[in-house]
Amino acid sequence: MHWESYYVKPENVSESELLLVGEEVHHLVRVVRKQKGDLIWAVDGLGAAYQVSVVSISNSEVWGRIIKTRRRIGEPVAEVILAQGILKGDRFDFLVEKATEIGVRKIMPFISKNSVATAGSQKIIRWRRVALAAMKQSGRSWLPEITEPVSLDRVLVMGSNCHKRYIAHPVTGSSPTPFPPDRKSSRTAQKVMIAVGPAGGFSDNEIEEALDQGFKTVGLGPRRLRSETAGIVLCTLVLSQLGELE
Ligand code: SAM
Repeated sequence: MHWESYYVKPENVSESELLLVGEEVHHLVRVVRKQKGDLIWAVDGLGAAYQVSVVSISNSEVWGRIIKTRRRIGEPVAEVILAQGILKGDRFDFLVEKATEIGVRKIMPFISKNSVATAGSQKIIRWRRVALAAMKQSGRSWLPEITEPVSLDRVLVMGSNCHKRYIAHPVTGSSPTPFPPDRKSSRTAQKVMIAVGPAGGFSDNEIEEALDQGFKTVGLGPRRLRSETAGIVLCTLVLSQLGELE
């Protein structure tokens, strides 16, 4: 469903009306010049979408009366969590935007042995803004959580709460492990953890540890992909295998 939507903070939604504030108001008032009585859609980032009729509009606030509520518009049933080694520059911004468009539910930036980039609060705030814009642009209603940076150990432990766990790793020697083709016939609420290394890749010990924790290594072909490319490709393969790209 391709639609224009605006973000409403969950705490600004009541039984019958909602309040839009901040940058959303600027766009509504100055750019698309909405008027009283116009119908717009607002999403709360927790899977709810509200069609509202604008009842009052000012330079700082837009109040809307809720006409109808839809749940999970634009959302996969499966919950894909992407744990990605932190990347330099704006490469991680790019990854956040694409993973959000594709339908990832949570993104966990991690630090591992070969990490050369870290992330302070400013980067996290920026990534969360990228995810918000990508959620609206792609017609989703769930705002992917961008966690604070975690250790790879934490990622591997979190993976134990998932139905499936994959770690992307170039397979040398024997043919790359083809992505398991077992296409699920119906979309199920599976939780899948994907781990993709930083630019310097995973150490042998980290791969061993992941295998010990039940992760499956996945080769993505004989070419070496940039980390962000590998993250996007693997998310796409997993969501496609789960029937979420139809
Ligand atoms: N020198 C590193 C190595 O050989 O692992 C290269 C790391 S690569 C730039 C960054 C990450 O992307 C890797 O840790 C892996 O998770 C993923 N990746 C890149 N190419 C891949 C491939 N062909 N198959 C599987 N994973 C790949």
